[in-house]
Amino acid sequence: MNHTLTLQSKEHVTHDTVHLVFDRPARYHFRPGQASHWGLDVPGFRDAGKPFTITSLPDQDQLDFIIKIYNTADHPDHDGVTERIGQLVPGDRVFVDDPSGDIRDEGPGVFVAGGAGVTPFIPIILERERNNGMRGCALMYSNKTEDDIILRETWEAIGGLRTIFVTTDASGPHPQRKIDAAFIDEMVGFDNRFYVCGPPSMMKAVIHDLRAYGVPDEQIIVEKKWLEG
Ligand SMILES: Cc1cc2nc3c(=O)[nH]c(=O)nc-3n(C[C@H](O)[C@H](O)[C@H](O)COP(=O)(O)OP(=O)(O)OC[C@H]3O[C@@H](n4cnc5c(N)ncnc54)[C@H](O)[C@@H]3O)c2cc1C
Repeated sequence: MNHTLTLQSKEHVTHDTVHLVFDRPARYHFRPGQASHWGLDVPGFRDAGKPFTITSLPDQDQLDFIIKIYNTADHPDHDGVTERIGQLVPGDRVFVDDPSGDIRDEGPGVFVAGGAGVTPFIPIILERERNNGMRGCALMYSNKTEDDIILRETWEAIGGLRTIFVTTDASGPHPQRKIDAAFIDEMVGFDNRFYVCGPPSMMKAVIHDLRAYGVPDEQIIVEKKWLEG
């Protein structure tokens, strides 16, 4: 954790997700889609090492993050790091390492996201909108409930980006179902480049389906570990 960031502001983007803005250290370079591993200025959390995606763009003066907060009372399987992050106030410090990660813009495609897994796609889609346009791009985004959709209005306002939302745990205006092979086939087809990020069970299932329907690994943009083994 070789950089110190100071929190400038924090606001909610959904009921359990916050947008944090930090000052940006000199010479902190990254490309859209990369993440930083965090440590907190709290005993026991200094070397927490959890990855969070930088959601601002490389030419901005600030570093933004959008982080889902899991409180340990409701999520006993979580380790308390994001609960602590939810308690940060402006002026607090966090420690981050140099940015890393394999997800990058490799051209138009279908962004398949689950919950907070949409975060790497935020800067990629925003930069693509600015520089290349959204031709050939779709966001297929699964959440448990309507209220969990991160930046819904932002996605819907991006001209040319096709948005396909589903919810899996509650009724609402969008299809209530999982993203699976049948849904991908019906909505976009397999002759596409796919970016995938979400909970581990979703990563495994979607990558399995894409491969089963003939999508080559070069057209599946994920953290590389998911394509190994
Ligand atoms: C490199 C990296 C960077 C990260 N950056 C961030 C970050 O910046 N901010 C952040 O908050 N988190 C980040 N994370 C954490 C991670 O992305 C989320 O914890 C993860 O995506 C789970 O999100 P969730 O709890 O919102 O998903 P959930 O709400 O549990 O699930 C999302 C959706 O996926 C569906 N789903 C689950 N299993 C399947 C399946 N088998 N098939 C189809 N659909 C399924 C669910 O039904 C639901 O609709 C990062 C992780 C990594 C590895």
